[in-house]
Amino acid sequence: MTHLRCSVSHCGTTLDLHDRALACPQCGNLLEVAIEPPGAEPRVLKQTWLERRMSADPRDVSGVWRFRELLPDSYGPQGVVTLGEGNVPLVRGQKTAAWAGLRNLSFKHLGWNPTGSFKDLGMTAGMTEAKFVGATAVACASTGNTAASLAAYAARAGVTGRVYLPAGQASVNKLAQALDFGAELVEIEGSFDDALNVLLEKADPSLYFLNSINPFRIEGQKTAMFELLEQLGWRVPDYLVVPGGNLGNSSAFGKAFIELKTYGFIEKVPRIIIVQASGANPLARMWTSGAQELEAVAQPETAATAIRIGNPRSWKKALQGVRFTGGRVMDVTDEEIGEAKTLIGRDGIGCEPASATTLAGLRKLVDSGEIDRDAEIVAILTGHALKDTDYIVKSRKR
Ligand SMILES: *Cc1c(COP(=O)(O)O)cnc(C)c1O
Repeated sequence: MTHLRCSVSHCGTTLDLHDRALACPQCGNLLEVAIEPPGAEPRVLKQTWLERRMSADPRDVSGVWRFRELLPDSYGPQGVVTLGEGNVPLVRGQKTAAWAGLRNLSFKHLGWNPTGSFKDLGMTAGMTEAKFVGATAVACASTGNTAASLAAYAARAGVTGRVYLPAGQASVNKLAQALDFGAELVEIEGSFDDALNVLLEKADPSLYFLNSINPFRIEGQKTAMFELLEQLGWRVPDYLVVPGGNLGNSSAFGKAFIELKTYGFIEKVPRIIIVQASGANPLARMWTSGAQELEAVAQPETAATAIRIGNPRSWKKALQGVRFTGGRVMDVTDEEIGEAKTLIGRDGIGCEPASATTLAGLRKLVDSGEIDRDAEIVAILTGHALKDTDYIVKSRKR
């Protein structure tokens, strides 16, 4: 049976799938969902998933629940809290590809989800589980996008949503979304990390906790990789490039590839490259120094507010994926992010600053010769251009 287990494999602790624990009761590390091998052949499931695109079952309309054979799936068609998330296109890079020196670059734009960021993919899974266990109030700490997403899905589920934001640091667009969807807003003096600490210290058992340390969030987010490979006819690209903040998304993608390879859906995996902002780069520092433990950045600073995080909780999970795929971790400056973001805009795509770390990182890796010009690359864009309009207007004046 699908269950929860400690994400550090040598610990071996397992828990019931619907246990509400957020950390391993034995060693304190994060939990993950252990997915059982699916009952059908990969070839058959790939066909089933494709055919569901023509179905009207709410689970099939969702680009997350369409892949339910590799998800916790206790819910039934009426049990899922969905806004038809997922189903976002893969868009080829034009000027961006030339700028980075690449011939085969595509963007998977997860910012084209219902609330404008990839957080919706995790939120449908987390909110569905929250409803299943009978939660009446849900909460998260957020740099903005998780708040917007939680607020929308809480409204759909008919539960109270409460979001903890670093005061004055989230973009006004994201704040407006959370208000529009009727969430309760709590502003915390300090950084995202401080806001998360305040929430975790509350340990209020009546609140269901929906940050990305919630293992169900990771399950929803991993389906972006199933959808990506389906779009590529299950041809595996050479590299997958993803921005790194709290490192939930990169963890989710790593888990997706581990499961797909282990269960025989693919024969090779793309190298995962995580790109952080240089002012909030604890994992990139650890990677470069060869240290065994993550050292938090006390005062994270970057204009890419979605990744202004000094103490990423999911770093161990993220490293598992990077190591499994033979990938790497790196960082880019705010200036490099700004240039890359402009190019993504000029390609007619647009994104929020955090997403542009991907293109900025790629350009550096092509320049240094680490990535071949002909390599097949998919870059993940995490947030919509309208998420941070201040940034755009201010850069014009600069
Ligand atoms: C949340 C977010 C990130 C960072 O994702 P993590 O899972 O925290 O690493 C990057 N970009 C955008 C737009 C986000 O909303």
